Amino acid sequence: MVSNQVTTRSISRSALLISLVAAGCRPGPATSQLGTNQADLILVGGDVRTMDATRAGAPTAIAMKGGTIVAVGTDAEIRALGGKATRVIDLGGKTVTPGLVDAHCHLYGLGADLESVNVRAQATEADAAAIAIAAAKARPAGEWVLGRGWDQNRWPGQRFPTRASLDAVTDRPIVLRRIDGHAIWVNGAALAAAKITAATPDPAGGKIVRGDDGEPTGVLVDNAIGLVAVPEASAETIERRIRAAAAQAISVGLTGVHEMGIDAATADVYRKLARARQLPLRVYAFLAGDPMDLAQVRAAPLPAEGRFVMRGVKYFADGALGSRGARLAVPYDDDPQNLGLWVTEPKQLAAAVDAAVASNWQVAIHAIGDAAIGSVLDAYEAAARNHPGDHRPRVEHLQVVAPADFARLKAVGAIASMQPTHATSDMPWAEARLGAARIQGAYAWRTVLDLGIPLASGSDFPVEGVSPMLGIYAAVTRQDEAGTPAGGWYPAQRMTLEEAIAAFTRGSAYAEGAEALRGAIRPGRDADVTVFDRKLGAPDRSLLDAKIAYTIVGGTVVFERL
Ligand SMILES: [Zn+2]
Repeated sequence: MVSNQVTTRSISRSALLISLVAAGCRPGPATSQLGTNQADLILVGGDVRTMDATRAGAPTAIAMKGGTIVAVGTDAEIRALGGKATRVIDLGGKTVTPGLVDAHCHLYGLGADLESVNVRAQATEADAAAIAIAAAKARPAGEWVLGRGWDQNRWPGQRFPTRASLDAVTDRPIVLRRIDGHAIWVNGAALAAAKITAATPDPAGGKIVRGDDGEPTGVLVDNAIGLVAVPEASAETIERRIRAAAAQAISVGLTGVHEMGIDAATADVYRKLARARQLPLRVYAFLAGDPMDLAQVRAAPLPAEGRFVMRGVKYFADGALGSRGARLAVPYDDDPQNLGLWVTEPKQLAAAVDAAVASNWQVAIHAIGDAAIGSVLDAYEAAARNHPGDHRPRVEHLQVVAPADFARLKAVGAIASMQPTHATSDMPWAEARLGAARIQGAYAWRTVLDLGIPLASGSDFPVEGVSPMLGIYAAVTRQDEAGTPAGGWYPAQRMTLEEAIAAFTRGSAYAEGAEALRGAIRPGRDADVTVFDRKLGAPDRSLLDAKIAYTIVGGTVVFERL
């Protein structure tokens, strides 16, 4: 079961301030009575979208203290709660929402991606090598430098590159993946680390490119790529990547993320950062689960540590639609012999889900094809029978749903964890894969909302862009960033702006069992809010111009646009 972490901390303190507001108290006795209870931070003059169904009207101001929202009201009501030490920010009409939380992303993966050297834009081998060498020299000695994006077909002469152009760096192995992933270009340090010499035979299905003298030239093709084993990242490297990714996440307004599949070593670094109060945003993490290793989930999750908790486990039912790995009940329209892949066989998946639920892990399963989603629902229904309770099982992506399965999602209490930008990235080819009938149940978040199935939105960054506004825009327009197609792709599935914001706030909070703590701007909730640099207007391309003015986590301004 997912505990919803209800606490009463700060409630009594907030109750005092709320009652003062309710009684219409004014400075004078109220101020002195407040004494040390003055708010820490006050926002006034805002367009406050509370996402609080219990509250009518349009408040303009928020008071925060001790990490908690203590009052929401008019500017006059809230200003009265300030004192000498209170920071007051006048928002001048800007939109404030509960803190935006990406419900499916890879924060550590973003950090690794930010460090990956991208040579795609380089016009020659020498230019690509220069970028990689500069990046390598900026790293600690001995550390591996990874990159991607080269394509010799775009270079003069169209010849494979060689180690020689990378050998200005001798104490840091460099590994650069070809644009299609089917070859790597490495320096001598990487060849030496992998013990690849003229005497090394080509592996089956692979090729070590060699010169006339038989010496490896520095390009390894297909199965020869596996000869180079890149070591696991050190704790220092993991920490550096998390810090860089977190800085980017708060700059686009995220106050939290659901980190979707990390190993124990990465979780340990998160815990250390959280203990040291070095995590600027909240991280609700899922263990990268191995469904063949049930011992992983036989012990209950560890307790929360500050802003970090890993209480979930993530499995994969199938692959992706683009590579025809998503498992379908009926073959692909554009590949009539192909049903896609089981990444985990249904029986094994059900065993893993049962074991995880029994130990109070929240389960999230990647399921894209209709057959995969069906197998996940089978597993969730069985677990619900065996272990009654509120388990909040999640289906990640939920891209192609059989018509009859929407009702099963609802009945089993599953959360639809959907990424609006996947729809607009996939729309050029999705219908060719699925055909005219199945596409009706694809990327169908309107159907999900209308049935009352809990919806949480995310981005899957770094697969997609990091900014949650990209997802909000895709959700309300069903258009790409260029504004096509006109009118939107299957526009009947659009969300309203309110619903799209709710999916990144209320929905994300519910999806981690934290709806009593976050997801709304309401007294007693954690003081996590996102402030845009303008008042959000029409649900159209103008949304993409909006930037973040302030990101506030636990009452602390963690990002501020200067
Ligand atoms: Zn993902």
